[in-house]
Amino acid sequence: MRMRNPVGGVVRRTAHGIMASMEQLWAPWRMAYIARESSSEEEGCFLCAKLAGHDDAANLILARGKRCFVIMNLFPYNSGHLMIAPTEHVPTIGHLDAPTLTELMTLAQRCLGALGASLRPDGYNMGINQGKVAGAGLEEHVHFHIVPRWNGDTNFMPVLGDVKVMPELLENTYRKIRAALDPLMTTPAGPPRRTRRAT
Ligand SMILES: [Zn+2]
Repeated sequence: MRMRNPVGGVVRRTAHGIMASMEQLWAPWRMAYIARESSSEEEGCFLCAKLAGHDDAANLILARGKRCFVIMNLFPYNSGHLMIAPTEHVPTIGHLDAPTLTELMTLAQRCLGALGASLRPDGYNMGINQGKVAGAGLEEHVHFHIVPRWNGDTNFMPVLGDVKVMPELLENTYRKIRAALDPLMTTPAGPPRRTRRAT
């Protein structure tokens, strides 16, 4: 399905959101995000800045644990791209104690459950870019990425940097994932219980 976006470029609606098409060259809303992000980076670590804020929805923080928190990526590689970070400002997982490492992966497990329920991806890429050479955008504060994947989505992936998920849709995605994640935050970690599927 194709539709027009506010500045006249053609966007494509897919099963997992609306992606900008290749001819999308002018995106003022995106520039506003970049400007805001770069100004906050000048003030310090954006993860710590958002963690210190009080409006989790505005800051796209999906969940807060005791030692780690979940936040959406402002520059997603795909719809639903999340980051899980320790609340402590440290550069590597080598700086994290065992309870923090456990909570990080527990949150990852819950995020996968929430993403599966809300966005229904076909798979995930997960991992940490540690160090600039490995592609870390913020190397001072370690963070674990979860990138949902859909069959055939490589057509839309920003391998050459010319296709991106439109940033204003982050709020919609945030609401969907948050609604699925909130109940999981209060249930014990572990394998998901089997749910009966309506046929
Ligand atoms: Zn930080």
